[in-house]
Amino acid sequence: MSVDCIFCKIIAREVPSEIIEETEDIIVIKDIKPQAPIHYLLIPKKHIKDITSFERTDCCYGSKMILMAQRLAQQNPQVAEFKFLINNGYKAGQRIFHVHAHFLAGSTFAEV
Ligand code: AMP
Ligand code: ZN
Repeated sequence: MSVDCIFCKIIAREVPSEIIEETEDIIVIKDIKPQAPIHYLLIPKKHIKDITSFERTDCCYGSKMILMAQRLAQQNPQVAEFKFLINNGYKAGQRIFHVHAHFLAGSTFAEV
């Protein structure tokens, strides 16, 4: 846990959030400022700053986030098609430096 990290505080229940799913390694919450009808954040419980900081032993978090996205899609036909997006670095749009994937669904999307 990183003391100044909002996502670590959400994981520790020190800050409230709308939790959608939770496993031993991943928490899924609703984004506070949704950019699509369905906008979730898939967050590893381990504080890893960004993709650049991933170590070999962290590789399971990437696949676990993908499997979580698959599970969310299977649970709800409305989200059978979705975007899975990770911003890496400030210039790429990252504002919270605890790695997370955006899961966006429920509308048509512009091409990235
Ligand atoms: P990024 O710009 O990729 O770092 O994404 C950060 C995301 O976190 C943004 O979409 C924010 O709306 C979202 N966010 C910030 N604070 C909270 C919070 N307390 N609960 C849920 N989502 C948040
Ligand atoms: Zn953190």
